[in-house]
Amino acid sequence: MPLADARRLTEKTAYFPGITNTGWHEEVLVDPGIDEAAYVATGATTVVVTHGHADHFSTAAAIRRAGARVVAPREEATLIENPEVNIRGMFSWAKPSDEMVTKLFRGEGCPVDGYLDEWRRPGLQAVPLAGHTLGHTGVMTDDGVFFTGDALYVTALWERHPLPYCIDPTLVRVSLDLIGRLGPDWIVPGHGDPVEGAAVATQIAHHRDRIDAISAALLDILRVPHTTEEAIAALCEHLQIAQNPAQYWLAVTTVKGFLSELLQQGCAEFFIDAHRGCWQAL
Ligand SMILES: [Zn+2]
Repeated sequence: MPLADARRLTEKTAYFPGITNTGWHEEVLVDPGIDEAAYVATGATTVVVTHGHADHFSTAAAIRRAGARVVAPREEATLIENPEVNIRGMFSWAKPSDEMVTKLFRGEGCPVDGYLDEWRRPGLQAVPLAGHTLGHTGVMTDDGVFFTGDALYVTALWERHPLPYCIDPTLVRVSLDLIGRLGPDWIVPGHGDPVEGAAVATQIAHHRDRIDAISAALLDILRVPHTTEEAIAALCEHLQIAQNPAQYWLAVTTVKGFLSELLQQGCAEFFIDAHRGCWQAL
């Protein structure tokens, strides 16, 4: 069980730092990133994938070929087995061009051997944390480490990405509350440095503050009616989002997530004007 490249957090739990962090707990890997040789060398018997974005299962297929079993959220399994499903979902099921698709969505698909809602493993608990995607699920260890995937973005990530991907901010808030209630000693987020102790609550509060601020900015924009396209542009301008086709299409999904929440809350309305979908604050 060589864990030379891993950083130990507790006696039983470690993580491999990377563009996507990979968790380790007693022969279980969580969200294997790109370092195939290091992960295969651990002799992992199980790979847990938190959600269907390819940067969280980069080497899952390779580790599975080496003998591991892959478990994932039921709602995410088709995205993991065939990343093209996620790519097409982003573009309303039509086929986007290559430059429109973030590299984070591209990768080798991996068969899923079991679902996390049925998965039982002493020392580990699968915790549904929807919002980033519908079935997103984290994993908490019995020694206080919570692998939260993309349910919690740490401050450093917000500084680089002011509008990180999210399909449902209401569900994100519920998931952040749950992370806080479970009271982990450590959080290992999918991206960025682990968070320990009192900093856990601070990071959760920061994430909540950011999504509240995005929602408030969008509502302010909608004081004047905007088409969907105009609302996306105005919010991206407000947040100074990088301008390229891949970023744009990620923003389309996320802004729709926030527009939908304003609609559900009764804070905004949607109507058609001259065949254009329009939004206005109420
Ligand atoms: Zn993701």
